[in-house]
Amino acid sequence: MTESADRVVVVTGGSRGIGRAICAALSAPGTTVYFNYNSNVEAARATAEGIESAGGKALYHQVNVASETAVVDYLGAILKEAGRIDVLVNNAGITRDGLLVRMKEADWDAVMDVNLKGTFHCMKVAAKTMMKQRYGRIINISSVVGVSGNPGQANYVASKAGIIGLTKAVARELASRNITVNAVAPGYIDTDMTGDLNDKAKAAMIGQIPMGRIGTPEDIAGVVAFLASAGADYITGQVIHVSGGMYM
Ligand code: NAP
Repeated sequence: MTESADRVVVVTGGSRGIGRAICAALSAPGTTVYFNYNSNVEAARATAEGIESAGGKALYHQVNVASETAVVDYLGAILKEAGRIDVLVNNAGITRDGLLVRMKEADWDAVMDVNLKGTFHCMKVAAKTMMKQRYGRIINISSVVGVSGNPGQANYVASKAGIIGLTKAVARELASRNITVNAVAPGYIDTDMTGDLNDKAKAAMIGQIPMGRIGTPEDIAGVVAFLASAGADYITGQVIHVSGGMYM
């Protein structure tokens, strides 16, 4: 079985930033895009408009991916309604930055729970149905810092490095069922997550990017759309860096 004409796509953290651009990039006539958000319903509404204007069907719900019960209920309801999940994009993510010696356990736990455990919860449920379908495309959003490291982000970096290991382990488990599992590692992308940086920090960051510019959410979304397309049918277990050359 290959790509379905009526695709069912699930994107976590679709209300803003990279997730919103991914929702738009995966939208097409015949595609239903389910996406969730944590608290920002207004932003979710705007994402839904983008999906609908690209010809897709948009359905959004408040779901905290850190909660196993919430994820099981959410994906269970999607399966009841749509009958299948073709593409899962684990994009929801948060930061709670601080130096290791000052990092609170709560900040460690919050980041690991959303970024890494949330990805695990969603993959676990989606994989069961993808195995029955003998088709599935899972794309996990990691980060360049999950490979390079970054001071002040021990929790975030550990979660993003964990996503890479998780991606590779599950890619090996599911490959024989025609399910691919890949990670995308964005560099420095212009979203709310990076919006707090002052001009000096931004300039310093751009100085580390060989292409000399900050990335856009659409730069990431295009690669996610490719990994979800038939053109990427033979790619699994890979980490695709989309960072203007920040990491080579
Ligand atoms: P963002 O603008 O802060 O958006 C984060 C998204 O995740 C929002 O839709 C948010 O929902 C959702 N979210 C947060 N916590 C959640 C939870 N517990 N359950 C469900 N959804 C939750 O972030 P972004 O920059 O687009 O980042 C998207 C992904 O790319 C993240 O995994 C991030 O780590 C990764 N990334 C970003 C960059 C970058 O430079 N921006 C670089 C590398 C990797 P609400 O709107 O409801 O809060």
